[in-house]
Amino acid sequence: MTVTIAYKDIILLYDKLRFDFNKLAIIRGGSLVRSKLIYEVIKKREHNNGVMDDLMIIINQVTAEIIIYCASKQQCIQVMEMLTESLDDEILNIFYGKMAETEKNAAMKKWLSGETKVLITTSAFGMSIDVNDVRLVMHYTMPMNMSNFIQKSGRADRNGDVAKIVILYSVNTLFNTLRSDFTDAQKTDQYLTSGQQNIFEMILFCMDTYKCRLQIVAHIYAWPNESIPAVCERCDNCLRCFQDTPEQRNNCNEIEKMLDVLGILTTQFAEEIRPTDVMNVF
Ligand SMILES: [Zn+2]
Repeated sequence: MTVTIAYKDIILLYDKLRFDFNKLAIIRGGSLVRSKLIYEVIKKREHNNGVMDDLMIIINQVTAEIIIYCASKQQCIQVMEMLTESLDDEILNIFYGKMAETEKNAAMKKWLSGETKVLITTSAFGMSIDVNDVRLVMHYTMPMNMSNFIQKSGRADRNGDVAKIVILYSVNTLFNTLRSDFTDAQKTDQYLTSGQQNIFEMILFCMDTYKCRLQIVAHIYAWPNESIPAVCERCDNCLRCFQDTPEQRNNCNEIEKMLDVLGILTTQFAEEIRPTDVMNVF
């Protein structure tokens, strides 16, 4: 079994399991910071036609294998139907957890033999399955945390060639996913409270406009003694930086004022600030 885990989470795990850190050795398969990956975040458009146009532009740039990760079986079917309108269904392949075993085996066989170019799938797609020539991993819905994102994205550079990782990002879609997972508002709040750090980390990654995405990943996943790579000069943020030449400004005063407003809301007016409210501010 392999696992995608940041060093800080190893420490947390040791702490929770009450292991003696000095009596355990960590055997590590390899770095999670892969400099051949080119990251891009695209704002997901509201209407399916616009999303489809963006999908087709990206897919047509790639001649090798493509994986499109969806949040659910329903989304897989929806994306499959959309793509069937523009692509030959012979090159499309679908795989999700609740498929019949015979269908799963057939889909896997086609994928491994290279018979199909595009695999539309959920996280049910086997972690141990390697296809060397995957050059694009697209996240049709923003992953719920960075570990999940890194793990799925890692399917793209098995042979060390340059590969692209794309997220179609939409906060609305994120909330719809949460709503479909939890019909009970209280449960959604509980989930957001327990997992909010992870979700915020993922949202910040998507919303960042100028910081090199490879470096963001490196700051989260580089282990002690592992160096942070130079800016990649290829991700969407690096390219935007070259184009906009932004200046750095210190906005501490404005942020302090915003915190003051939040303080007044929560103390003087007894307004409850819930995790979902903070997400909406983002
Ligand atoms: Zn970059």
